[in-house]
Amino acid sequence: MSTPVTGTAPSGEAAARAAGLTKTYGMGETRVVALDGVDVAIGRGRFTAVMGPSGSGKSTLMHCLAGLDTVSAGRVWLGEREITGLGDRELTRLRRDRVGFVFQAFNLLPTLTAEENITLPMDIAGRRPDGPWLREVIDTLRLGDRLRHRPAQLSGGQQQRVACARALAARPELVFADEPTGNLDSRSGLEVLRFLRAAVDTLGQTVVMVTHDPNAAAHADLVLFLADGRIVDEMAGPTAEAVLERMQIFSDAPGAPPGKDTGLSGPPSPQAPGPASGGR
Ligand code: ADP
Repeated sequence: MSTPVTGTAPSGEAAARAAGLTKTYGMGETRVVALDGVDVAIGRGRFTAVMGPSGSGKSTLMHCLAGLDTVSAGRVWLGEREITGLGDRELTRLRRDRVGFVFQAFNLLPTLTAEENITLPMDIAGRRPDGPWLREVIDTLRLGDRLRHRPAQLSGGQQQRVACARALAARPELVFADEPTGNLDSRSGLEVLRFLRAAVDTLGQTVVMVTHDPNAAAHADLVLFLADGRIVDEMAGPTAEAVLERMQIFSDAPGAPPGKDTGLSGPPSPQAPGPASGGR
């Protein structure tokens, strides 16, 4: 477990990559090392989950890989393009063209219909949606009969599916999902996870999902485990049980801070559903 995992995909097949990625916050006594020399390659066309205790660096890793945050040391690539050292304007453009985001809080505009929400980023960028691709995304997410509804007229799961469609609409190089099921009941969460899965399997997208839920991670192809700003392990073809077991090893490890909120040491979730949640 102490061996750092270096890379999960050859660089040519990586949708995003980092080498020696270090991120610190603050100075002196308040200095926090959020990421400590992370080497990682996110496989293209794969569904990768990032797990780890609270404060282990999951969000920071996602933000640095997505070009939302600057790095303190190391290098980051989106596809073949190195993003470390790019100026704000270039970074904004690159992000807009290559990255989609799904947030825990959906972040839909209440006054717009589902369809308008889905195409909003492209409207802002002055780009015309690719009609056939958009239809494919909407069909895959089974949103065809909900396009004229406003967010308040949709269930939580449907709203998050709209947010997924919005992230996929511009056909980004990769989609980052930050606890996408965190605000959903288990059934709606399952819907969203299945659609993220379908985005990978049917549409060939690349998805990186930060989660603390072993049931959610079980939908991924690969789970990366973070602890104290390092990738300490990975698991291909995860099951909820295996992920939970691995997390318990981490939280029981001698170095684990006492009383630290792992968010992972208990049972997956009181509402965690039975058979459907563990598989794909
Ligand atoms: P996770 O997503 O796994 O909960 P984070 O990436 O949010 O972890 O945080 C990793 C570490 O960096 C934590 O110790 C956190 O307190 C610290 N951190 C994150 N963002 C900031 C910030 N803006 N300023 C100072 N410290 C931060």
